[in-house]
Amino acid sequence: VNIPAHLDALIRELSRLPGIGPKSASRIAFHMLKMAQGDVEHLARAMTDLKEAISACSVCGSISEGSLCPVCSDPAREASLICVVENAKDVITIEKTGEYRGLYHVLGGVISPLDGIGPEDLAVKGLLSRCSGGAVGEVVIATNPTIEGDATALYLARILKPLGIRVMRIARGLPVGSDLEFSDSATIARSMIGRVEL
Ligand SMILES: [Zn+2]
Repeated sequence: VNIPAHLDALIRELSRLPGIGPKSASRIAFHMLKMAQGDVEHLARAMTDLKEAISACSVCGSISEGSLCPVCSDPAREASLICVVENAKDVITIEKTGEYRGLYHVLGGVISPLDGIGPEDLAVKGLLSRCSGGAVGEVVIATNPTIEGDATALYLARILKPLGIRVMRIARGLPVGSDLEFSDSATIARSMIGRVEL
């Protein structure tokens, strides 16, 4: 089959996105061919604007439209409490529960020796320096309930406790091996309330 080069290029780019296989990529590309020019341009602009407008918060590493994210710049948040999450997506998931009033710290992943990811590849240093000032009393570790997520939680507990920080782990309401992103708000809120000390 002779696919026009421009169509082929788009299909290739789309197939690189998470959750989109070659079949879906092709379906989306053919759909775009039928879309109005203006709609395609809006879509393209939303993608380039996203990269220009959104960066990482300089304090917590969550996504932000300025150098400080809305959570870090909110004086009403409890500054003595930090919730550690794997990704910025998890911040949004926990914020949706409306139950958490502290700050966040985005690790950017979990420790995974098999994938060659160690603490130095994650935002651990930043977390340590935030916890060294004496303003933070408690850290809740909300990494996903996977083997790597649990190992990362234990590692963080080991390095944070000597700083006089109370280190907690979100409760086991979440199914083992699951992903925070796909859990419902009530379950996440429950696991936050029922957190246990590490
Ligand atoms: Zn922030």
